[in-house]
Amino acid sequence: MKNKKMNTIDVVKEELSMLNKNTKYTGLYITLFALAGGILPVVASLIPKIIIDYLTNQSSSETVVKAIIFLSGASLILSVISAVFNRLASVDFMGLRLKEYTKVTRKYQLIDYKYLEDSKFRDYFETATIALDSDNRGFEGLLNNFLRICPLFITIIALAVLLSFFNLWIVLACLLSASITVLTNKIYGSYVSKRKEESSKKYRQKDYYSRLAYDFSYGKEIRVHNLEKKLSKDYQNKSITYIKVVKDIANKKFGLGFLELLFVLFQDAIAYYLVIRAYFIGDATLGEVSFYIGAIIVLSTSLRSLADLISLLVKNASYSKTYFEYASDNKYFSERGILKALPEDEKLEIEFKNVSFRYPNTENYVLKNFNFTIHKGEKLALVGLNGAGKTTIVKLITGLFQVDEGEILINGININEFDKEEYKKMFASVYQEVNIYAATILENVIGTDKTEDEIQRGKDCLLTAGLGDKINSLENGYDTQLLKVVEDNGTELSGGESQKVAIARALYKGGNMVILDEPTSALDALAEAKIYESFNSLTSDKTSLFISHRLSSTKFCDKIALFSKEGLKEYGTHDELMAMKGDYYNMFETQGKYYKEGVEANE
Ligand code: ADP
Repeated sequence: MKNKKMNTIDVVKEELSMLNKNTKYTGLYITLFALAGGILPVVASLIPKIIIDYLTNQSSSETVVKAIIFLSGASLILSVISAVFNRLASVDFMGLRLKEYTKVTRKYQLIDYKYLEDSKFRDYFETATIALDSDNRGFEGLLNNFLRICPLFITIIALAVLLSFFNLWIVLACLLSASITVLTNKIYGSYVSKRKEESSKKYRQKDYYSRLAYDFSYGKEIRVHNLEKKLSKDYQNKSITYIKVVKDIANKKFGLGFLELLFVLFQDAIAYYLVIRAYFIGDATLGEVSFYIGAIIVLSTSLRSLADLISLLVKNASYSKTYFEYASDNKYFSERGILKALPEDEKLEIEFKNVSFRYPNTENYVLKNFNFTIHKGEKLALVGLNGAGKTTIVKLITGLFQVDEGEILINGININEFDKEEYKKMFASVYQEVNIYAATILENVIGTDKTEDEIQRGKDCLLTAGLGDKINSLENGYDTQLLKVVEDNGTELSGGESQKVAIARALYKGGNMVILDEPTSALDALAEAKIYESFNSLTSDKTSLFISHRLSSTKFCDKIALFSKEGLKEYGTHDELMAMKGDYYNMFETQGKYYKEGVEANE
């Protein structure tokens, strides 16, 4: 079912069948709503006829009173039925959409990381999930459109049959005018969908600048570096390109609306001419004229509503179709094996075998035929200039990206043979960018864990990471709420403190291998030394990988690998590399001098 060849009817069928599986009575609600809502306008258009018949002496006062009481009563009952079942069906529609939304959110976490960094994928994901983001667009919008179409069908068929007994041409004129509405809507719909991706891309770009302007975390930088002007100029430029797309779409709608109006006037002229003529030649009474005029108005508005609803449904189906395609496309989830994580006490050996890798949509390889081994229990420091590929190596080891050629082996096993979730368990990583959640400081480390043991371990990790003094200074200690986004009185941590929280998280998580990717860049040299010390004792038996700019922190590592843009340049122990008097030696000397000068200047 869910494949690229889905058309509108397939999408409607798919959604109705999902609805059927999810809820018991929605089919019944839709049927009752359709019947009540469909008959109601027909009943209502009979009332003026009955009154006029009475006024022109065509019926007795007793008949008219009975008829009016009956028709008004029927209208009331039908209105109540239609309102009640409309509501019940809509509630079921929303329930189903929210269920689907939860599914997407869960699945999103499993998407290969490389797609999350790819703006093309982000555009596609945004377009695909538009289907689920509101009750009147895409998935739920389509179900609501379908619900409204059902009674219209009944009204249209009933009135078309009644009117065709009087004069078939009137029905044909209404149908012609409605077909033009369908056609113009279709042209408009395909124009909008042709520009759909462009419009969501332009919107995303524009939105980026406006969000940035209000983003707390950028506030300082924007003010300090006077980026306001640049920001508002970029926002203006991107807004102009977005507005252009919106304008083009509005112009198209205006032109097509004009064509539609011409045909409505043509239909009205024919229909009213035929009704008035029938009266004058004696083919219709005044009461019948009023009924036919009422019926023409209801038929023509119902047809136009039907045309509008169908084009809305087609549009919503196209959102849903993109969503179904996305949801059933497994290319975003790379095939992985089923192996469980190795036992936590098993030391890891990581081997890069002829690995070549370049980022998606880029030309240059970051690694080319790269061969390298991190031995069991070894502490390895990766050093080198920015952009040499150190973080990329971490992303490959942790499985965020996959190699283009060659393979990465862990204790001789290709990393793709592990189950994705299991694989993650083997690594405790700390990165330079830290994301703090709006939760308590302890929850930031232990998440939803809640046993006494887990809580104690979480607290210990925060202490080991060097946050003891900070926590003691806080009124609510470990239960201090972080960030002001959710709680007004939330605490904002400094960059260094945030990094310590991230380090505590990694300590808490455990795993076979520790990876620190410049996690101490926001810490002062003393705090950094302390962190490394505690990590050193905690990771003494584990394979560990450290990326650091500060070479002083590489001294406690067993091996050092120095990377340049050309790849691995120097490899060995600290003493070996110093003896080589190569790049490592030069960097070490330069930094040492800088530190010394810094200390002297402070004295
Ligand atoms: P390092 O950690 O040594 O500073 P990185 O591994 O971050 O270096 O980067 C290596 C190269 O890959 C750089 O040229 C960088 O511009 C590029 N690069 C890093 N991340 C991405 C990405 N997501 N997409 C494209 N290129 C990237």
